[in-house]
Amino acid sequence: MDELLISAVCWANQYDVIVAGGGPAGVASAIAAARQGLKTLLIERSGCLGGVSTSGALPFWLGAMTGSIPFHKMLEKGISYRDLPRARPAVGGIFVEAMNRIKEAGGGVGPAKLAQTDKYPGLDRLGCHDEFTFDIEIGKRVLDEMVIGAGVEILYHTLVTGTKVDGRVVSGVYIANKDGMTYVKGKAFIDCTGDADLVAQSGFDTYKGDRLTAEMTEVNLVAHIENIESRAIEQYLNKGGDPWFRDICKKAKNDRLEMDIPGNLILFPMMQEGVFMINEGTTFSGYDGTNAKDITHIMLIGRQRARVLVEELFQPYMPGSKNCRLRMTAAYPGIRETRRIVAEYMLSESDLIEGKRFDDTIALGGRHFDLGRGGSQSRQPFHDRNLSVKTGITPIPYRAMIPRDTINIIVAGRSIAADGQALGPARVMSTCFAMGEAAGIASALYLKNYGSYRGINPSTLKQTLRDNGALVDY
Ligand SMILES: Cc1cc2nc3c(=O)[nH]c(=O)nc-3n(C[C@H](O)[C@H](O)[C@H](O)COP(=O)(O)OP(=O)(O)OC[C@H]3O[C@@H](n4cnc5c(N)ncnc54)[C@H](O)[C@@H]3O)c2cc1C
Repeated sequence: MDELLISAVCWANQYDVIVAGGGPAGVASAIAAARQGLKTLLIERSGCLGGVSTSGALPFWLGAMTGSIPFHKMLEKGISYRDLPRARPAVGGIFVEAMNRIKEAGGGVGPAKLAQTDKYPGLDRLGCHDEFTFDIEIGKRVLDEMVIGAGVEILYHTLVTGTKVDGRVVSGVYIANKDGMTYVKGKAFIDCTGDADLVAQSGFDTYKGDRLTAEMTEVNLVAHIENIESRAIEQYLNKGGDPWFRDICKKAKNDRLEMDIPGNLILFPMMQEGVFMINEGTTFSGYDGTNAKDITHIMLIGRQRARVLVEELFQPYMPGSKNCRLRMTAAYPGIRETRRIVAEYMLSESDLIEGKRFDDTIALGGRHFDLGRGGSQSRQPFHDRNLSVKTGITPIPYRAMIPRDTINIIVAGRSIAADGQALGPARVMSTCFAMGEAAGIASALYLKNYGSYRGINPSTLKQTLRDNGALVDY
């Protein structure tokens, strides 16, 4: 592996495929492209792979199973995931391989099971559970090994800052790192930046947030707290305590009026006993994740909020938390939505509510609508009208990944053309892996047999995906 690691950084200046962004979508894209024999470069602005799941401190890959139901419904019915009908896999291929390799390395639990629940089964009532949870450091290392093992070259701490476009053809990217500014040529480009950076830099159409209001959903600076007595949290839940800790938050708010204490918390057990991730308590609205000043502001206020949570809420009020400590805040903010591409086809809310099927479905997800706006992330959008993803599965049409009027650029991950609340189930990380795998294989088909990404035959793509263990049928 050491020799492989060295060769992985000997990068050239001409590639078959350049993948920008090493989150779940980028990892799968790069592995799939390289396994198809393409000379592949993966460019990542941080120092590890995994995107939000590692740098964003959120090691929970959701969407891998069908049958997930909204958390508020579980609360209303007083059930946990163990009580639900048996779910079946919605994502296979590279995602399952990554999951299994992390488990083999002793670093993962799930899907359909929460960390720490072998020892403290009552913690089951805390969360949504269709996720695969993993140890962040083990996850980073396994993803390195998988990507390098596939023959991908990686450039870390490197930002794609621009593209060169000739007519409708992207011919290369400008990158910035410790070497300065460099130009790298490519034949095909996979934009996995989450923000559609390459598509926007190339001048192709994108829009931000809600199509009508441009509003973007809340951002979080995720924090981990350690040295909590897991048993005490379990006992609180076993005695009928609120899994959102609203009663505790209310008391703390009343006692400490001057403090910025949230109305509820969502706690996720991490792999290590006594360590929990907090999501909802560090949530902020009104920010744009593509604006450098906004990103800086989130980091500044997020770290302050994390301190308040630990010292003013957890230590004095939460069960078993008297001696807890802040373990870490994320390396960058968790951004749910920014730019989305304008594509050949836009996946819509009504497609999912009506259960529309597509001939060119190349990826699936099992998640329900969950993109909160202007309020809590915890209630399913449309819950007041009892509307849900009809089939329990979100299909991703290949056309939603191809920016309009383009030849050699494709998008995988959270900036595909999924309109409004359709983005919620489409953007979860297992589904991003699945989209990435499709984009990688599509790159090989395009470069070997067809004149553009748009031109490839979706049936051929689907069959190649099936041959590789990916799930495209339901
Ligand atoms: C607070 C929060 C909670 C969430 N909870 C969950 C959850 O529990 N489970 C789940 O499955 N999903 C969850 N999601 C959604 C999920 O994390 C994202 O939708 C998903 O990570 C998108 O994957 P991606 O590969 O498209 O992008 P990302 O994970 O964002 O990865 C993009 C990568 O590209 C890199 N990058 C960006 N721009 C550039 C550039 N110009 N040049 C080079 N590199 C670049 C970034 O550093 C990053 O590594 C959550 C999201 C948020 C914000």
